[in-house]
Amino acid sequence: MSVQLHDRFGRSFPYLRLSLLEACNFRCSYCLPEGFRATAGRPRPLDAEEIRRLLAGFAHLGLRKLRYTGGEPSLRRDLPELIRIAAATPGIERVALTTNGTRLPERVAVWRTAGLTHLNVSVDALERERFATITGHDRLPEILEGIEQALTLGYAAIKLNAVLLRGLNDDQLPQWFDYLRERRVSVRFIELMQTGDNLAYFQRHHLRAESLEALLMARGWRLLPRAADAGPAREYQHADYAGRIGIIAPYSKDFCAGCNRLRVTSLGDLRLCLFGNVGIPLRPLLQCDTQLPQLVATLGGQMSLKQLGHRLDAGETGLTPNLSTIGG
Ligand code: SAM
Repeated sequence: MSVQLHDRFGRSFPYLRLSLLEACNFRCSYCLPEGFRATAGRPRPLDAEEIRRLLAGFAHLGLRKLRYTGGEPSLRRDLPELIRIAAATPGIERVALTTNGTRLPERVAVWRTAGLTHLNVSVDALERERFATITGHDRLPEILEGIEQALTLGYAAIKLNAVLLRGLNDDQLPQWFDYLRERRVSVRFIELMQTGDNLAYFQRHHLRAESLEALLMARGWRLLPRAADAGPAREYQHADYAGRIGIIAPYSKDFCAGCNRLRVTSLGDLRLCLFGNVGIPLRPLLQCDTQLPQLVATLGGQMSLKQLGHRLDAGETGLTPNLSTIGG
């Protein structure tokens, strides 16, 4: 019987996002516009054994849903093994992956067999040229083909992430409507977030989601009641469409009230918030199985430091230079 992690505000944390590496093969203009550059002497990411121990510790504290992210997690050759480790951890019911989708055509069936249950693919535009401009890579057709494959494999949910960018992809709604008519996927429009590296870009391209939501409602989309264990998305559905549309608006009031997630970086640092200023290293506690009680006690002890919400409105982006370092 596991105990639950709780903070001072009565929130519990059954959800962990673990970054598997910092490296990424894309150059998204809002995240890594110059591409990933390895830093000499930087430690290697957590290995499979360290990850197994980390998950065992969190599972002891009520972890039910794990998301692997990055960087680009599919660049790790041992990803199928990491999925199997997560799926075999008692207590973990959902194993999710956030990916840019470049490896979907050759890997998506392998991941499913290994135990992946939920898939999020980043698709910032449905027009090939726009996509290439935003991500730095002309690879939309193969990514869309990979999503078609995924749709046949029995994933519990497939979601597509699109960061809302003023002047770059804010006119793509008609294409998304066409895409969603027959496909049982949910597209998530995410408001661009300011990070340590992207202030000028943020000021140019940030767009609040309210105008988009007004447009959706005018077109007959209806806001669904929020499920008890739902994430922060406001989800819309329409009788004429198989797919759904979610809005993730981190700048909206009360966005953090339902926070149910913790994060661990690829080097094993705990982050209590995507935009927080604190994060202790867990790696020293992941070196042998007998350290489990110490890991569990440390995680429990950190909860008192979790703040009520981020301070993005005040321009405080915390320790995060860009989301590739911690995982979006
Ligand atoms: N490489 C994977 C991918 O492309 O999905 C996983 C890592 S990526 C950092 C995770 C998600 O964060 C992506 O959907 C990406 O679009 C989103 N993201 C990155 N920087 C962001 C920002 N500044 N604001 C909002 N979303 C961002």
